[in-house]
Amino acid sequence: MQIGFIGLGNMGSAMALNLVKAGHEVRAWNRSEVAQKSVPGVTLVKSAADAFQTDAVFTMLSDDPAIRQVILDAGLLVSARPGLIHVVTSTISVAFARELELLHEEAGLGYVSAPVLGRPNVAASGQLNILAAGKADAVAAIEPLLASLGKKVWKLGENPARANAAKLACNMMIAMAIEAMAEGVVLTESVGLDRADFFELILGTLFSGRAYESYSAQIAERSFEPGFKAELALKDMRLATEAGNEIGRTLPMLEAVREGLGKAVSAGFGKKDWSIMADMTVRGGASSASSESNPEKKQ
Ligand code: NAP
Repeated sequence: MQIGFIGLGNMGSAMALNLVKAGHEVRAWNRSEVAQKSVPGVTLVKSAADAFQTDAVFTMLSDDPAIRQVILDAGLLVSARPGLIHVVTSTISVAFARELELLHEEAGLGYVSAPVLGRPNVAASGQLNILAAGKADAVAAIEPLLASLGKKVWKLGENPARANAAKLACNMMIAMAIEAMAEGVVLTESVGLDRADFFELILGTLFSGRAYESYSAQIAERSFEPGFKAELALKDMRLATEAGNEIGRTLPMLEAVREGLGKAVSAGFGKKDWSIMADMTVRGGASSASSESNPEKKQ
């Protein structure tokens, strides 16, 4: 199958490579130059429009404005190959997913929302969890492709926005878990309990979930290389807030983690892993990440 791919960032490059490994011809476009040796087997094309002249195109750009600019404003839905299915794996807003669904319907194209759970290393090993929603025939047509990217495709029905709401809810809850662990460390380190011992205790008793396992390790090691950039996590908290506002709800814990991530980004740590938020909480607002490893701070 000929597949287009738009956005070869941390996630997109790993996913495009897995599509190549599954035997597909992948025609990929990225805004800035990408070294061919970093994506062996991928055909790098000169325009995003080229990636839309395929059977199915994946988009893994960072956010709503990037997708609007690269795809909608450039008229790619109008010039796309007839019958193409567009799979948006980025984490986007619920409102934008609805808009994309309508615009694809008008253009006679298939549209599937397929945001993913898992960081770049998980994407590289083809172990993502994929939350897929869209018309049943479109989802069925691309399911073999999704299967080559992840360990499980969670089918969430015909309404694409469901997948986006579920993804935002998951990220919101991971941020809450990161903050919860940080506040646990504040209390326990104050009486001399090592954070590694505290984490061993909580993982072995009440909090054995994946989010706690993965992020306790980063907090314990004080390792904040992304991973998932704090600036993108802040974007997701804003989208979750907006989704709540749409239904007239404000979610207090969401607002708290959004504020924490906002402080981390304002302090210049937007390109660090979002678990940097925990480090700032533990240190009462500062971070152990040095200005050496913080290029934004030096500018
Ligand atoms: P990333 O490494 O920052 O890559 C972002 C990609 O978007 C790059 O290809 C970038 O192009 C492109 N881009 C951004 N703005 C653009 C614009 N205006 N025009 C054209 N291209 C633009 O981010 P990522 O970690 O791969 O994340 C991508 C998406 O996956 C996001 O929606 C994120 O929330 C979601 N996600 C991330 C993770 C994770 O752990 N990293 C996990 C699940 C989901 P350049 O290379 O030219 O900058």
